[in-house]
Amino acid sequence: MRIFNTLSRQKEEFVPLEEGKVSMYVCGPTVYNLIHIGNARPMIVFDTARRYMEHKGYAVNYVSNFTDVDDKIIKKANEEGVDPSVISERYIEECKKDMQALNVRPATTHPKATEEIGGMIEMIKTLIDKDHAYVAQDGTVYFKTRSFGQYGKLSHKNLDDLRSGGRSLLVSGEDQKQDPLDFVLWKPKKEGEPYWESPWCEGRPGWHIECSVMSKRYLGDEIDIHAGGEDLIFPHHENEIAQSEAANDKEFAKYWMHNGFLNIDNKKMSKSEGNFFTVRDISEKYDLQVLRFFMLSAHYRSPLNFSAELMEAAKNGLERIVTSVANLNYLMKSAADGEMSENERKLMEEAKRYIAQFDTAMDDDFNTADAISAIFDLVKFANTHVSESAGRAFVQAVKDEIVLLSDICGLIVDKQEEILDAQIEELILERQAARKAKNFARADEIRDTLAAQGIILEDTREGVKWKRA
Ligand code: AMP
Ligand code: ZN
Repeated sequence: MRIFNTLSRQKEEFVPLEEGKVSMYVCGPTVYNLIHIGNARPMIVFDTARRYMEHKGYAVNYVSNFTDVDDKIIKKANEEGVDPSVISERYIEECKKDMQALNVRPATTHPKATEEIGGMIEMIKTLIDKDHAYVAQDGTVYFKTRSFGQYGKLSHKNLDDLRSGGRSLLVSGEDQKQDPLDFVLWKPKKEGEPYWESPWCEGRPGWHIECSVMSKRYLGDEIDIHAGGEDLIFPHHENEIAQSEAANDKEFAKYWMHNGFLNIDNKKMSKSEGNFFTVRDISEKYDLQVLRFFMLSAHYRSPLNFSAELMEAAKNGLERIVTSVANLNYLMKSAADGEMSENERKLMEEAKRYIAQFDTAMDDDFNTADAISAIFDLVKFANTHVSESAGRAFVQAVKDEIVLLSDICGLIVDKQEEILDAQIEELILERQAARKAKNFARADEIRDTLAAQGIILEDTREGVKWKRA
């Protein structure tokens, strides 16, 4: 499997730190509003990468945060006259609903910045002790950018160029910086803002430190993959690398993946220009599976243009797969039992070629556009070769392959399967919480609900696993 690494700007063979395992951190949304369709792109493409890696047999530990302390959240809270946590909790819940509708599986862990302040203070202390950070007179703590020799390695920016243009990076209130390139790790509270005690002042963390800390806590000092939208390369991810590597003396992440931007009608998405859609807006007109299919029909690193025509094309494309599977289900009802005929076995060999084509595409930096073409080829194969005279074993085998490949893309094409993967995992998490709270009645109820849908749970040492009966 090859992954395009922003660090080296080339595709590299993927070699995990630990055999058979992948640790992956994806920067999540700031929760002050319903997520927009641009935010949905990293969720969908990296969820698909995760699904493919799991399909290949890797155990993926997938962490994605919610940024729940931020200027925009505070502003909205003040407008509504409520505590910022009311705003962030509301939009975390709404975001989870959208994720479920997009069939984006919940992360292994979804940490929230406000619950990790202790860890952030610890890391900032370490950075000060190692002379990578300093405290200004007003209690602001800055990272000393020039103390980290490899600064700029991700964004391929030259520190001197940055420094000469650096004055423009200064914003008001940051005049106590030793160098314009230094960035905030901790800042003093302002009137009406949430704050925490710290050794330096009552205040709150800068944005970048949260991901360094959450990634370390849930995945360790070194991880396999760190991902997000391309706007995060500089300064967010560059700063994360500086903080983590200066504090831990280890390479932070081996592979950096960035998705391209989503535009609307070839223009940058902008609320004030009126070309802006939330995922919820789209759900009023389309099944969100169509949005997912649309996002995967392009390579994740390419810019992607959203338009009504392209969504219609996506709807038709997805429909072709769903109809083919429905047809196979129909044929199955009257198909004869017994083993595959010689001819069917030969045809199955041909079908396997499309499956190999799918894997080749996904192995090449998750080329979902080509992978979906392979699904279409398989659908065409099914429509041509599976007829009323086909035996059940053959119909089932062809259907299973279409469903499996679609499922790796998170596309639900067999409408007989009512309950979504994401719903199952939500219920499993709820069951774990219920058990922890000793609410065994609710935990058993969830197990029974899932069993009624043909979902079997298995408690293992690595956590709860599930399968369809
Ligand atoms: P934010 O809430 O702005 O921090 O964004 C959350 C995630 O969405 C980040 O990974 C961003 O890079 C990504 N993102 C934001 N806008 C877009 C867009 N228009 N296209 C693609 N990704 C985006
Ligand atoms: Zn981040």
